[in-house]
Formats: sequence, structure tokens, C-alpha cells
Amino acid sequence: MLRVVPVEGEPTRYWVESNTCVCTNPQCKAAYNRRKAHEIVLGFRDWTARLGVGEPCPRCVAEALKKLYPRGASRWQYVLAWAKCRSRMEPGEVRRMAADLARRSGLVVGELDERFHVVDLATYHGNGSCGCEYFQCSLEPELRLLPPEMQSEGRYRDQHILAARDRFTDAVLGAHERLRHAKAGRQREEDQP
Ligand SMILES: [Zn+2]
Ligand SMILES: [Zn+2]
Repeated sequence: MLRVVPVEGEPTRYWVESNTCVCTNPQCKAAYNRRKAHEIVLGFRDWTARLGVGEPCPRCVAEALKKLYPRGASRWQYVLAWAKCRSRMEPGEVRRMAADLARRSGLVVGELDERFHVVDLATYHGNGSCGCEYFQCSLEPELRLLPPEMQSEGRYRDQHILAARDRFTDAVLGAHERLRHAKAGRQREEDQP
């Protein structure tokens, strides 16, 4: 389940949790998919499925290693460093290792941070829009060419839009139930002993 947070004062807009976590280093900004088993890291296929918020960024770690060992920044060193990152017993230990790499290399080693996309349910005649790359690169270019009545069919929704619509439905149903309850007073059958 993706986390969904309403944007205050804007009833059709929501922040929806991304499947990727992203590096805090503005020079790097590497993004890693947390749901996929494999992802390309520096040209190698690496196991990133369990990458989480607060862990050192693999790309930054690899860059720091390359600088420290310009001739010997081989695959095994990278793997070794990464294994060290991954096999941590304590989060503090990983941070110390990343800080040590950053200090010795003079490079910034970023941490992975969570990421949210803005969804607006009302745009494109009710299809909705999302700030994620998938919507903007794959869905939106086709969607924007469609006439309004085809846009409102809602066939161009990604998982973030669907998650926000689910939350929107909950909110509307909740309001509806409260209103019904207020009108019915104590007469409703589910309120009877
Ligand atoms: Zn990074
Ligand atoms: Zn999206």
C-alpha cells in the first residue's frame, strides 16, 4: 500500500508515496526502485529490492571508492563496500562508514530519502495527473491529445492516481456516512442494541 497524504486546502490533490527512494546529494539524485528485485547500478545489475530510507546511496559510495582507489576501483571493492553497507547490524555503523568514505574521498555521500509525487484528480477531465516520470513520459503525451470525452474515461491512470482516488473515495464515503448518521439520529439499525 502506498502512503497517501491530502494536500491541505486542495480537495482534489494528494501526495502519494513513490516506489523509488532518491539520493539526498543534489549532485547525484540517483533513484532506486524499492519494489523491483534488480536495478542497474553503475552498469552492474545489483540487488536493490531492500534499499531503504536512511541508507547510504550506492552510487555515491561507488563514486567515493573510485576516487579513493583510482586504479583499483574494481568490481569486488564496490561489492565489498556495498555488502558492508547492507550487512549492517546498526544504522549508526552504516552512517559512520559512509561518513568515513566521504571524509577520505572529499566527496559527498548522500543518503536515500523517501519521495512523494503530487497527484491532482481533477485534471484532464477527471482522468487525473501525476508528477511521476511514468505518467509524464508514458501516459500524459497521449492523454493530452485526446478529446475531453475520451479523457474522462480515465484509461490513463497510473498507480499513484488510483491510490489517491481510493483515498478520495474513503473521504467522500466518510462524509456521506456522517451526514446520513446525523440525519437519522439514533434510528439507524446498526445503532440498535
Ligand atoms: Zn547518491
Ligand atoms: Zn504517478
